[in-house]
Amino acid sequence: HAGRQFQFEITQFGDNDRLMIVYDITRLHNLEQMRKDFVANVSHELRTPLTVLSGYLETLLDQPEGIEPRWLRALGQMSQQATRMNNLVNDLLLLSRLENQPEDREPSTVSVPKLLKQIHQDALALAAPKQQTVTLECEPGLCLLGIENDLRSAFSNLVTNAVKYTPNAGIIAVRWWSDSKGAYFSVSDNGLGIDEIHLSRLTERFYRADAARSTATGGTGLGLAIVKHVLMQHKATLDIHSEIGRGSRFTCSFMPSHIERELES
Ligand code: ADP
Repeated sequence: HAGRQFQFEITQFGDNDRLMIVYDITRLHNLEQMRKDFVANVSHELRTPLTVLSGYLETLLDQPEGIEPRWLRALGQMSQQATRMNNLVNDLLLLSRLENQPEDREPSTVSVPKLLKQIHQDALALAAPKQQTVTLECEPGLCLLGIENDLRSAFSNLVTNAVKYTPNAGIIAVRWWSDSKGAYFSVSDNGLGIDEIHLSRLTERFYRADAARSTATGGTGLGLAIVKHVLMQHKATLDIHSEIGRGSRFTCSFMPSHIERELES
């Protein structure tokens, strides 16, 4: 049955009898592939016009002499929205790549402590205007076998979310450690928290726990979907603990088979 896709379901009756049901899911599989291709193509096609638009807007904003203040304000708004659209297209393209070619690149040893130092620096810059504290606790030399850019996207999405969804003067703790069962990356915050009813759907594309609050923070709604796909690619899992008004903790658990140790010099 070359080219066809099947799904099997086996039920055991008593000691010796088994019932096997075979589903032909070829049509479903093809439709899903069409959806993925469509999203990837649209995102790719949107890239060029957006780059041109942003380029012209930047040029105009760089030479504001002679432009009326109200037009300058309008140009500023347009530039902000173009940046937002750019982020959305980039996230859609990343998600398409993760879905379509999950194993297209060779994994290598990723120095997570080094990666987290950079992410921490970026988070400090983002948190400074909100007077938030961002701490980093990191097991030295604890590395992962994986795809560096994808891990950076996943970890940085979780840290950025914590900063975004925690009010002024909040505390965000980033940790990276290991035990005999695996390696763990966690981000805790004492921010807004998420109602339990949303938790199981949070990693779906564009799912938001609170539409009004999330739109105001300017996210794309794709961050946690990206996190989920990157973790799947690394055979890792995501646990979310959260309580409204008290804060959230996102934990990524990696298997011992993906852990590597850096020899300290
Ligand atoms: P967004 O771009 O909207 O942040 P994400 O996929 O990254 O999209 O997150 C999905 C939703 O999960 C967010 O809209 C927000 O409602 C909720 N969320 C994510 N992280 C946190 C957090 N640390 N605290 C509270 N809510 C969060």
